[in-house]
Amino acid sequence: MNRFQSEPLALNKSQIETMSETHRLQPGSKVDLSLLNTDGKRIHPDRQQAEAEFETLREELVTLQNRWYADGSRSLLVVFQAMDAGGKDGTIRRVFRGVNPQGVRVASFKAPSKKELSHDFLWRIHQQVPAKGMIGIFNRSHYEDVLVVRVDEIVPKPVWKSRYQSINDFEKMLTESGTTIIKFYLHISKSEQKKRFQARLDDATKQWKFARHDLEKRNQWDAYQEAYEEMLYRCSTEHAPWYIIPADQKWYRNLAISRVLVQTLRELNPQFPTPEDDLDKIDLD
Ligand code: ATP
Ligand code: MG
Repeated sequence: MNRFQSEPLALNKSQIETMSETHRLQPGSKVDLSLLNTDGKRIHPDRQQAEAEFETLREELVTLQNRWYADGSRSLLVVFQAMDAGGKDGTIRRVFRGVNPQGVRVASFKAPSKKELSHDFLWRIHQQVPAKGMIGIFNRSHYEDVLVVRVDEIVPKPVWKSRYQSINDFEKMLTESGTTIIKFYLHISKSEQKKRFQARLDDATKQWKFARHDLEKRNQWDAYQEAYEEMLYRCSTEHAPWYIIPADQKWYRNLAISRVLVQTLRELNPQFPTPEDDLDKIDLD
């Protein structure tokens, strides 16, 4: 039994309505992931229209990122978490297509090395946070330290329990230093994961993506969902919100994520730096 299943869905009606549009999880809201939609078709029935809107937003993201880099006064951190085959790689590839690679850096977090394990869990993370002017993308993140680490009992419970607060404090410190943080949980159904695993098994160009331990994690589906629920509940904050994105349909997922990214950057409103004086008097020979 899921930890939150016995309780009513703690989001109230208006929160659910807001969420179904923005997918943003209000701070302090408990979620039951089994009740939250994974199917983009239920929100946006028109795939063609969604793809057209996505393309327009993608182009705007390219323009905004160019200004963000030129402005160079703040940084943006985008975190992706999902179950295996949840679509993190595909999202990064599709949503950020066309942005200037000099201004974007992807950090993928695998199981920590011996050296990384000899430090606190945020040590390796802090080294990868984006510098000013940059967009940093985390493909998995410090949240693994309250997910796989919890499910596989890699550290004792009091240790991972204390990490929610450490993460919130760390993210607060980053935001106070000029970093905007957006976190996306790509929410897929168990049956969609099965389809994607099968596609990986059937296609010689995708087989490299399949790992046997993915099946072990699939068998631990409920334990992972529970870990995700607590992570979302404890770590969706005003300064670093979680967005729960219905991700069974890639086209809807891409649209929903690019809407959030573009909206966030529009609000941050990056500006080209003021040019030096008297540029119009410069005479090039
Ligand atoms: P794909 O979706 O393409 O398989 P991936 O992100 O799953 O990509 P993998 O190399 O398959 O990449 O897996 C990375 C593994 O590292 C994951 O199983 C993840 O749980 C694990 N990992 C990441 N951070 C930690 C951590 N702090 N402690 C233990 N394991 C971790
Ligand atoms: Mg994997």
